[in-house]
Amino acid sequence: MSLREQLCEYGRRAVELGLVIGTSGNLSVRQGDLVAVTPSGAALDKLTPEMCPIVDVEGYLVEGELQPSSETPMHLAVYETTAAQAVVHTHSVFGTVVATTMTELPPVHYNALLLGGVVKVAEYATYGTPELAANVRAALEGKQAALMANHGGVTIGATLEQAFEATRLLEWLCEVYVRGLGVGKPTVLTEEQLAAVVERSLNPPRFPRRP
Ligand SMILES: [Zn+2]
Repeated sequence: MSLREQLCEYGRRAVELGLVIGTSGNLSVRQGDLVAVTPSGAALDKLTPEMCPIVDVEGYLVEGELQPSSETPMHLAVYETTAAQAVVHTHSVFGTVVATTMTELPPVHYNALLLGGVVKVAEYATYGTPELAANVRAALEGKQAALMANHGGVTIGATLEQAFEATRLLEWLCEVYVRGLGVGKPTVLTEEQLAAVVERSLNPPRFPRRP
């Protein structure tokens, strides 16, 4: 699948899964110095490959008639300082709830480790600005996900599929936490408990074959 075809496919899935409403949210995928990004102001489930602009890592438009997403500077800032090959940004409901009410998403489930543990909330700045890009970059340091205050969430990955799955996981973790707060006080896993999970995943038990 070409980079632009991938954007169409995952744009459609993002809308189908309710992670994105209308034109909110944007995706990008990188290959070498080029980045295919979803266009500004287009519904993510109605994209065609030609609609998706291609920019270079410096931010120059290389191909396409439509303007790149207004959040493209944030995507490019992330590519500049991480090994990410894809970035997914949405205004998913539970992610946005946490980003609007908290300063971080504590690890209440061990799957949070797949995103780097605690998910930080990047300080608020106007959408599309270099300030927001810098804040997101700082919150993402050493992690696969960040939330953006009063805005939404962003995830990265080695492929668009990985970045997309990270967005689904981030939304699930936020939903568990928010729903947990409605029932009681969610227990946060300790450093020790999280270290034990890492240890366990590195040394899975092997089932002996029956003689
Ligand atoms: Zn946004």
